Amino acid sequence: MDYKQCGNRVIVRIDKGEELVDSLKTICKKLDIKLGSIYGLGATEKVTVGLMNTKTKKYQSKEFTGDHEITSLLGNITTMNGEVYLHLHITIGNVEHKTMGGHLTSAVISATFEGIIDIIDDQVTREYHEDVGLNLLKL
Ligand code: FE
Repeated sequence: MDYKQCGNRVIVRIDKGEELVDSLKTICKKLDIKLGSIYGLGATEKVTVGLMNTKTKKYQSKEFTGDHEITSLLGNITTMNGEVYLHLHITIGNVEHKTMGGHLTSAVISATFEGIIDIIDDQVTREYHEDVGLNLLKL
């Protein structure tokens, strides 16, 4: 992975074989980013996405392997308990050009990932809401 900061934006490249979520977290930690947004595209060969079951309040996970384009990754950066907290959603396209997506748990990059982080010079944390079963924004 590599990155270049341009003012309040960071241009990100994540390389073949690297895990996307961990890599983005590492960059946020290195640059001390506590609030921002992220978007990008690329390719993955192994990706796990989740769907929040609002009745059980648990994520139903599914793994996709083989060549997939990351047609879109969109997410935000906040903190929780002093740690970087990424909330990322992803859409992937397969060999039939069909798209699938969900809440991103992990993705191994198969060619490259190109992202842009928009830094907001502030801080927002999260707190767990039992009724929803999610760590919601504390504003
Ligand atoms: Fe989500």
